[in-house]
Amino acid sequence: MTERFARVALPLPLAAPYTYRIPETLGDRVVPGARVVVPVRARELIGIALDAESPAPVAPARDILAAPDPEPALPAPLLATARWIAGYYGAPIGLTLKAMLPAGMWGTSRVVATTVPGARPPGGLAGQVLDWLEERGGDAPVDTAARHFRRPLWEVLDRLARVGAVTLRVEPPDTAAAAATIRVVVLAGESRTLLERDELFRRRPKRRRLYEALESLGGSAQVRHVVEQLGFGESAIRGLVKQGLARIESVERVRDPFAGTPATPPPETLTAAQAEALAVIERLGPGQSALLFGVTGSGKTLVYLEAVRRVLARGRGAIVLVPEIGLTPQTVSRFRGAFGEEVAVLHSALSDGERADAWRLLRRGDRRVAVGARSAVFAPVSNLGIIVVDEEHETSYKNGEAPRYHTRDVAAVRARLEGAALVLGSATPSLEIVARAGRDVRLLRLPERIGSRPLPPVEIVDLRVAPKVASTGPLAWSEALDAAIVAALAREEQALLLLNRRGYAAFLQCPDCGDVRQCPRCSISLTVHRAPDGLRCHYCGHEEPLPLTCRACAHPVQQMRGIGTQQLERVLTERYPEARIARMDLDTTSTKWSHQRILGAVEAGRVDLLIGTQMIAKGLDFPNVTLVGVVDADTGLYLPDFRSAERTFQLLAQVAGRAGRGPKGGRVLVQTRHPTHHALVRASRHDAEGFLAEERELRKAPPYPPETCLVNLIVSGTQEIPTGTRTARLADWCQALVARYDLPITVLGPAPCPLARIKDRWRWHVLLKGPSDSLGRVVRYATRRLTRAGEVRVIIDRDPVTLL
Ligand code: ADP
Ligand code: ZN
Repeated sequence: MTERFARVALPLPLAAPYTYRIPETLGDRVVPGARVVVPVRARELIGIALDAESPAPVAPARDILAAPDPEPALPAPLLATARWIAGYYGAPIGLTLKAMLPAGMWGTSRVVATTVPGARPPGGLAGQVLDWLEERGGDAPVDTAARHFRRPLWEVLDRLARVGAVTLRVEPPDTAAAAATIRVVVLAGESRTLLERDELFRRRPKRRRLYEALESLGGSAQVRHVVEQLGFGESAIRGLVKQGLARIESVERVRDPFAGTPATPPPETLTAAQAEALAVIERLGPGQSALLFGVTGSGKTLVYLEAVRRVLARGRGAIVLVPEIGLTPQTVSRFRGAFGEEVAVLHSALSDGERADAWRLLRRGDRRVAVGARSAVFAPVSNLGIIVVDEEHETSYKNGEAPRYHTRDVAAVRARLEGAALVLGSATPSLEIVARAGRDVRLLRLPERIGSRPLPPVEIVDLRVAPKVASTGPLAWSEALDAAIVAALAREEQALLLLNRRGYAAFLQCPDCGDVRQCPRCSISLTVHRAPDGLRCHYCGHEEPLPLTCRACAHPVQQMRGIGTQQLERVLTERYPEARIARMDLDTTSTKWSHQRILGAVEAGRVDLLIGTQMIAKGLDFPNVTLVGVVDADTGLYLPDFRSAERTFQLLAQVAGRAGRGPKGGRVLVQTRHPTHHALVRASRHDAEGFLAEERELRKAPPYPPETCLVNLIVSGTQEIPTGTRTARLADWCQALVARYDLPITVLGPAPCPLARIKDRWRWHVLLKGPSDSLGRVVRYATRRLTRAGEVRVIIDRDPVTLL
């Protein structure tokens, strides 16, 4: 009898999977994609069998202990998708599967044995184990049983499972620990005036900071967030409670924040353009894709809904991907409204256990539609018929850690493997997809808004010459924008104000010597924050108190530069005292479901002005928003990244698309100091095609995607010189490889990354440009060669979305 071996992936940072021997008794169950229990050092972990026919390893292999599932946990197309990701992006298969599968399904999860009532009791050890299980109420984790009997029980339990006397199931380790309630600190009573505050918090600055921090978070926050993220002690919280300014509440952990959202019924009839697009989508063959290029408000969602409905009617399933689930409650509720209980919403607040539950429901076919962000592309929807990628151009679709996959591209691969159709949608599609449109991607257009509503007129306000309001201090506030806001408020309409810079001020500068306070760990200036006061690094989270004097020259006054959303809120509160103002940025949405709370208030008409970062640009559909103001269009315009114009165009076009979605119409004002930049000019004309064509030309020389493909090799280390030296060696190695195989690849670098240091690590890079298949060869060699040497790390970023 020849021995058989399997490679088993574990969710650990290992370069390659381990090989184990398959005991004869488990032969039929250890198949590709099956979960197996394997010994790792002194522990037992659950891994995924990648194959069952591996060659015998050189070193003696340990045995697989058990294979608890009757069916493989991972369907074949998903395993094939994992293989593709690992190969294409140069990532270890274990890490790839870790990103794909809920943690509660494997790793340190435990196998639990449950007795099946009525089974004939066998004798011997098997009988004793069964009796013991019965005594414990019918079930117990296998490791607990093994400890009780002081011997491994896998064989016994496997036999019992096969005769139907017990069932085995894998349970996440957190099921008991997942608390059903959370503690929240809530402000009590009316908001206090400044005078009252001075009185209440005399000699208690910390308590005041906490009070104001809670205020800026909308009046409440999780105790854990306050302590762990904001750094306040429990004593400060107790102090507020004692003063009667706050109370602690125990609230039930929100299991499903979307359960309560009203399920909007979809419009009844399709427009002609929608019907035409739908007809083409329906006729897409297996693995084929289409781009739904529709202006904002053109009704793309209804096309997705109807396409999914038809797929379900044919007995197949669907995956719907959205950029960030918290920001798209309206899209989610539309799908809920249409398909109710068929929908599994995969959101970040799910515990490991809940995620594993959702996975199981989809795998069994009890739910047939998965809606979620990035990782939902791996949802085990059975008999997959369609994948929808809404807002295909969004950068959040690219995973920020290994495997650095792009969700849209993974969706295309998976659709091909499953024979499903792929529908990409955007008002501002990426250059990469547009370049392929007409060839392997069908191009479908929705050129008009629903009801022939016009796109809102966009006026560019040239801040260099426009008349400005005098009383807004450092904020450049044009009379035009001011008048538009006053008018909107007078008509009781709503306005969105975009400023893509959070915090109070971009940086702190000494007016005397010019010194700018930098993060000690990153090469980036620190952002000024208020309530709580401090300087914060947006890359590593470093915080320090606001200095009163310059550290370089001791000059006593420091100047804040570059207005952030916090300061904008303060200035506007003074300027428009009657207006109800809300702010949505990372700082106000750090608690779960705060997005929904803020957006809910806008929807209910309790907010007149919504200030926000790029968060407010996406997907919102509020008919009473008649004005969109872009406070500073230039924040991202000249970043040293080949996509900065594209990003700026997309942001402006998207946020402009929030205006005038109702019968009242709307307008957009864009403040800028670069009014002739093509991103601004094209956005102001709603001319996505024109922008794409112009930008496409600019990507030709020097070539950037879609003209060529990129692989960015990023080297990081704690010491500057060794990191640079290592990068130089890496560049030489790339050059040699290119020469040896005569590859049509350009090697650029070594050079420091634009962000030369993050979190105490120096960053250098080598940029490879060339056709995708040649780059693929380099990636293959690189994954084998670039195993970690010392503390210097090499990251392979294929098809990067940013070069910063
Ligand atoms: P997009 O995603 O393209 O920006 P939406 O899908 O949000 O646009 O649609 C914009 C608005 O038009 C929504 O309020 C939607 O309910 C409405 N709508 C879409 N299709 C139709 C239709 N066929 N008839 C009536 N209203 C529609
Ligand atoms: Zn930092």
